[in-house]
Amino acid sequence: MVKANHMMPEREGGYRTHCIRCGTCCTKGGPTLHKEDAILFAKGILKIFHVYTLRKGEIVRNIDGTLMVLEQEIIKTKGQGEAWTCIFYDDDQKACNVYGHRPIECRALKCWDLRGFKEIRARPCLQRRDLIKPDDGIPKIMRAHEQRCAYETLWSAVERLRGADSGKAVKEILELLQYDHYMRHLLAEKLKMAPNAMDFFFGRPLTATIRMFGLCVKQEGDTFLLVPMDSLSSRHEQASIEPRCGVVTEKRGKPYCYFEKETTSYPSS
Ligand code: SF4
Repeated sequence: MVKANHMMPEREGGYRTHCIRCGTCCTKGGPTLHKEDAILFAKGILKIFHVYTLRKGEIVRNIDGTLMVLEQEIIKTKGQGEAWTCIFYDDDQKACNVYGHRPIECRALKCWDLRGFKEIRARPCLQRRDLIKPDDGIPKIMRAHEQRCAYETLWSAVERLRGADSGKAVKEILELLQYDHYMRHLLAEKLKMAPNAMDFFFGRPLTATIRMFGLCVKQEGDTFLLVPMDSLSSRHEQASIEPRCGVVTEKRGKPYCYFEKETTSYPSS
């Protein structure tokens, strides 16, 4: 970032009064899209593979840093790799690649005065059904996926992990994750659905978002373990935690998935 004096923010009563192109707002996560942004898809500026869906029941971080559970789905622009930085942000230029056509939240956001942003935030959010033709085959598959892999179901199973039927809860969770995982592979292979469009149609993979519950799936040979993320630092620790959390093993014919230990983080809402 350039630190020349002319780039420093003007101050008025101690507060910034204009954008200094620091890029902070674009690196903390892309915007949530609203109904008004549908036109950007119609014009071809935004495409399905630029965005992803956060489904009802997912945990997200509010603008004030608190966590909340989504009561309805939202659509956001994707990040860059593992970073939350908006897919359209050019770090070298410190600029937005779609600036002239940026989403309504981005146009309203002034980090020194959030009133306009909050007003936009309160407006209805764009949803998947706003962007999908009802007569193609996808809505039916999406409904089946939502019915089978709803976060409500996942929450219910996770809450039972420390109860008397923890083994059953683990089995339920693994089955949900497996359905979501193999369904995506099947759609890519058989229906030639673009893999980079899956996160829009079905939300992010449950094998990734399970981390928001502090859990992950670990493969050992053909055995698949649902384990607390903080138990992966050593086999000894893992073994000591497994019985407490009611971890059971599932025998599967095919590899399932494997996650290294990583820090849990949440997308912004
Ligand atoms: S669309 Fe442009 S302005 Fe909005 S967050 Fe992304 S890079 Fe920033």
